[in-house]
Amino acid sequence: MARINENYRKLQAGYLFPEIGRRVAAFQQANPDAAIIKLGIGDVTLPLAPAVVEAMRSAAQEMGTAEGFRGYGPERGGYDFLVEAVREHDFAARGVEIAADELFFSDGSKQDSGNFQEIFDAGCRIAVTDPVYPVYVDTNVMAGRSGEIGADGYYDGILYLPATEENGFTPDPPSSPVDLIYLCSPNNPTGSVTSRQNLESWVAYAREHGAVIVFDAAYDAFISDPALPRSIFEIEGARECAVEMRSFSKRAGFTGVRCAYTVVPQEVCGRSADGTRVPLNELWARRQATKFNSVPYPTQRAAEAVFSPDGRKQTGEQVAHYQENAQVLRAGLKGAGFRVFGGVHAPYIWMRTPEGMNSWECFDRLLCDAHVVGTPGAGFGPAGEGYIRISAFNSRENVAEAVARIRSAFAAG
Ligand SMILES: *Cc1c(COP(=O)(O)O)cnc(C)c1O
Repeated sequence: MARINENYRKLQAGYLFPEIGRRVAAFQQANPDAAIIKLGIGDVTLPLAPAVVEAMRSAAQEMGTAEGFRGYGPERGGYDFLVEAVREHDFAARGVEIAADELFFSDGSKQDSGNFQEIFDAGCRIAVTDPVYPVYVDTNVMAGRSGEIGADGYYDGILYLPATEENGFTPDPPSSPVDLIYLCSPNNPTGSVTSRQNLESWVAYAREHGAVIVFDAAYDAFISDPALPRSIFEIEGARECAVEMRSFSKRAGFTGVRCAYTVVPQEVCGRSADGTRVPLNELWARRQATKFNSVPYPTQRAAEAVFSPDGRKQTGEQVAHYQENAQVLRAGLKGAGFRVFGGVHAPYIWMRTPEGMNSWECFDRLLCDAHVVGTPGAGFGPAGEGYIRISAFNSRENVAEAVARIRSAFAAG
């Protein structure tokens, strides 16, 4: 019989969102009249912007004509029109020069952030912040870069950097060397955003130790202070030690459409066993050419439309809507005496659980007494214990109602 990849058996059985789903379904079944407000899973709720829909529609029609038909896409995934739009609007506008052959398009940053580890040796040492977007850890566990998970919730062999109130949820580099570092800013789940200074210290660390930073900027559109870095490539020296992932999912509601890209500068290298420096761009190009066949043409036209004047206006309003929701949550919960973090440059509120509850107790209490679904912080890593993540992806009405219900549920209890 075929042997399985034993590393998969190291993964934690009760994955966070299925467990949340089970508890919500059980509660709904027992309380069919309860109007549950879901502020759990980080998925957008607003419909696609009209400019995006129009671009998809017209691209689909084009594909139905002899002249407009397109088959497999370009090697690095992106058609010129999208590559150029990204270079101009996401980078040149912030003073960052990115070459066309440094952009790799894909069907999502979840995939990119999960797949990128494939081009590194199985012995590479990984560092993540804790709590963390689970994809970074689980994909490295699957690839054999960890031992078993301990009773403390940490995998053996992975370095966890606690993101705490004390460090503003943006940990500094460790004192020991690692090979691969995952950073996410604005952060899921804590809603924090990294400062220029913090990012500079990470770039300095990576250059000193020959490490590579995988920078996940899926929420960059939520940064409302123009002085904060949106791209790691705004930091000097980052081209030698970092790759960056961006997605259209949260900025333009593409979670169901699927389009993202990864920047791999020509300078960033790993080394082979004999010490030769090998550009990661070359390896990633080879990996994508072997395992991926680009993003659908109508999807790329839709992504291009995000940068058009109408598209920028419409998607900007969507992001602003979620930002205002976050503000409603933040102010409402803070005003009721809860300790809340994040929610300024990110669509997530990171709330300290009241009354010394643990994350899952707080989750159950919110569900049963307020009929509101959050996400237990402990599901993102041990340092998330004692917190709950509340998402701003919902209607204004629901968000305001959720605040009122949470306030009265806890006031009563
Ligand atoms: C939502 C999210 C993404 C985006 O994933 P897609 O696959 O592009 O939809 C990436 N990273 C983090 C941390 C996220 O929360």
